Amino acid sequence: MKTGISVHKFGGASIDNAESVRNLASLLKQLEMMPEVMVVSAMGKTTNHLEEVVDSYVAQEGNAMAKLDVVRQHHFDIVRDLGIEGDIRDQLNDVMVEAEWLLEDQPVDSYDYIYDQVVSIGELLSTIIVNAYLQSVDLPVVWLDIRDVLKTDDTYRNGQVDWHRTGKQVEQIINPLLEKGTVLTQGFIAGTSENHSMTLGREGSDYTAAILANCLGAQSVTAWKDVPGIMTEDPNISDQAQLLPRLSYAEAVEMTYYGAKVIHPRTLKPLKDKEIPLYVRSFLDPQSEGTLVSDEGPDVYPPVKVRLKEQALIQIRTRDSSFVVEDHLSQIFGLLVRNHIRISLMKNLAVSFSLVVNDDITKIDSLLKDLEEEFTSEVKRPVELLTIRHYSSDQLDQIREQHRVLISETSFDTAQLVLKG
Ligand code: ASP
Ligand code: MG
Repeated sequence: MKTGISVHKFGGASIDNAESVRNLASLLKQLEMMPEVMVVSAMGKTTNHLEEVVDSYVAQEGNAMAKLDVVRQHHFDIVRDLGIEGDIRDQLNDVMVEAEWLLEDQPVDSYDYIYDQVVSIGELLSTIIVNAYLQSVDLPVVWLDIRDVLKTDDTYRNGQVDWHRTGKQVEQIINPLLEKGTVLTQGFIAGTSENHSMTLGREGSDYTAAILANCLGAQSVTAWKDVPGIMTEDPNISDQAQLLPRLSYAEAVEMTYYGAKVIHPRTLKPLKDKEIPLYVRSFLDPQSEGTLVSDEGPDVYPPVKVRLKEQALIQIRTRDSSFVVEDHLSQIFGLLVRNHIRISLMKNLAVSFSLVVNDDITKIDSLLKDLEEEFTSEVKRPVELLTIRHYSSDQLDQIREQHRVLISETSFDTAQLVLKG
């Protein structure tokens, strides 16, 4: 059953500084109705800065505490520029204290656990500020600590949602709050059953919005971005990018699978399961309609391109030049899993097996060492993996003329080309 609730998500770029927070308030005032739920990311590049704090602490190199202080000061500056009164600075300090305590001791816990305890403060800081500012301009918002509601297992940095508990918490905590105003909460972060902080994977705020929408039986989710909507290619890379006004869930799933960055890949399933439409709109141009992702897409799609840069092509051969058979493949896959390497594309030929993977030099070096005994391997880097949905053969010919194509694979509606970088 749909409840008429709308969930809106605002990413880091929409709350980068005082001016953009003010713009957010005026955007909300332009909407016909305040959303029932607002999911907000960390401000600007805060998550990256907090990752640097973690790296510096874990390596015990550089001054992690000083780096954390830069993050604090940046948020203090925004509070000052927004001219919000009250004990906001104390509230921000309270959030930071837990990270500070952690940084004072030697690192003993796992990297992923430490990461989540430190990096999760980005969203807590941003929502405290946005909440205070929106209240100061008479927008009726109530702040919620999502860690009490969104419950996961303890797979740090990649929390797996406990849907049963989360559903119950939504009912007990969010439902009564909705009567008081717009529930404003954090994206990307969650809580374990032991109340430790958790994150859901980079850019995970979209996913948070989808989880809450699913549990609330919401009517729609709107993700506000710094691009006009979902486009035929990344507008930051290409000036040929065109807006896709409508898209089916299935098409959007394909795009995120191949690496399109505009929506977090885990976002679509919770929406599709309850047939909740997703609007992707631009906070820079709130009048324009953006993209609607729902059950029904257009009959015909234009070509949609997804580029993955900074990839490496690994060609693996058996040492005795025998065919690469099932035994070998199972060995190779085992080693990929052990080294946490995800395959972007693979191709099996008689005496070689080729893989395209993210060009993470440390992981690849470790894989090559593991392969050494039985296989020889050669790495080509950098390569680019270009996926084209709804391609035309003319388009492929053109690309072949302009680029050195190392591998090309086509199926009914998807072409994948590995290009020399
Ligand atoms: N702040 C987090 C990140 O930058 C989550 C998000 O933006 O969705 O990855
Ligand atoms: Mg972000």
